[in-house]
Amino acid sequence: MIKSQNVTILGATGTIGKQTLDVMTRHPERFSLFAVTANGNDVALQAICLEHQPRFAVLLDSAAAERLEKVLSASNCPTKVLHGPDALNFVSAHPDVDTIMAAIVGAAGLQPAMAAAHAGKRILLANKETLVMAGRLFMQAVMTDGAQLLPIDSEHNAIFQVMPADKAQGFEVSGIKRILLTASGGPFRNTALEKLQQVTPAEALNHPNWVMGPKITIDSATLMNKGLEVIEAHWLFNASPAQIEVVVHPQSVIHSMVEYIDGSVLAQMGNPDMRTPIAYALGYPDRLNSGVSSLDLVKIGRFDFLSPDTIKFPCLRLAFEALETGGTAPAILNAANEIAVAAFLNEKIGFMDIPLLIESVLSASKIDEVRDMQMLIEADQLARQVSTDWVARQT
Ligand code: NAD
Ligand code: MG
Repeated sequence: MIKSQNVTILGATGTIGKQTLDVMTRHPERFSLFAVTANGNDVALQAICLEHQPRFAVLLDSAAAERLEKVLSASNCPTKVLHGPDALNFVSAHPDVDTIMAAIVGAAGLQPAMAAAHAGKRILLANKETLVMAGRLFMQAVMTDGAQLLPIDSEHNAIFQVMPADKAQGFEVSGIKRILLTASGGPFRNTALEKLQQVTPAEALNHPNWVMGPKITIDSATLMNKGLEVIEAHWLFNASPAQIEVVVHPQSVIHSMVEYIDGSVLAQMGNPDMRTPIAYALGYPDRLNSGVSSLDLVKIGRFDFLSPDTIKFPCLRLAFEALETGGTAPAILNAANEIAVAAFLNEKIGFMDIPLLIESVLSASKIDEVRDMQMLIEADQLARQVSTDWVARQT
């Protein structure tokens, strides 16, 4: 008999959150929904609560929580409604929880993921911003407090799948030479540099292969997503920047590769559907049916590989540089990027202003060693302020 896992889904109304529920409901004997959370969308959370009756539902927004509470009690739904950031930490660290799906978007996902790490939970990490901002502190918490970390990002999940079982041994002992991180290249892979400043949010939101939330979709168009993933891979697999190579693979079928010192290159493949990495992490070490269709290689026909163009997409270079600089630099990069993406989506700045803003904020910032969470939060807030001022100067 397999022990059923109590699962909290942070960001349950998002793209990853919904796909997590899809996989879980295929295996009711294995998973029970303990808590779901969302930012302000009480209507979407209400549908989940009425169907699955989790113990807790958390909304960041208190007015939305009040509305949800009313509807659920009128329907005799036993779910208890909470609100605010402390409630996110509460459902992440609750003694009755086994597994957390960390699928909040952006820096808001850091504190609950950290709470889960300190409580020694099994963490399915989609929120890459946690590792970008607080890689050292988060990995330390996972280790010292006995948490288990399973990557959800398709590339890191792929790498995890093709690495030897004892991943803690490190590159040298395991005979690993390097990681090949694949990237789709985004919707503007073939767009001329001179045209990029004029592209619209609608064009940037039109990703060729993946259906994702708006922030990560813009990050994919600028290649910042790949940059954040380089930093994520550094912390997850203890890889130096020189041991991580980004390869553009427009078909998004090879999700990433690991090269060994004997010349072997192991790849993980599959249709671009996040339910595969989600099912792998939910069931680990067992394999679960995820609902993903079989890969039709004949239909796909060919695989292409190219080098990334860092002149057209400077965000990838900026992320590598922030990783080399270390300290608070990746957290500042992340904060500036979040403000830049929001400003681009609101049509306050152009597409090529995104890397301009980030580079200008990074070069104006004092970079410190990260000693504790408080320092990170302060660096994040200051970078947001400087970035917001930068945007205001453009209009
Ligand atoms: P999304 O925008 O679809 O969903 C985001 C979720 O976070 C929603 O449930 C929203 O209510 C919640 N949220 C937003 N702001 C919040 C706040 N301030 N406080 C609390 N909750 C908040 O995003 P997504 O595409 O599901 O991505 C989620 C995370 O997973 C991101 O970090 C992304 O980089 C990562 N990821 C996503 C994919 C994908 O295919 N979508 C792939 C790899 C990694
Ligand atoms: Mg990814």
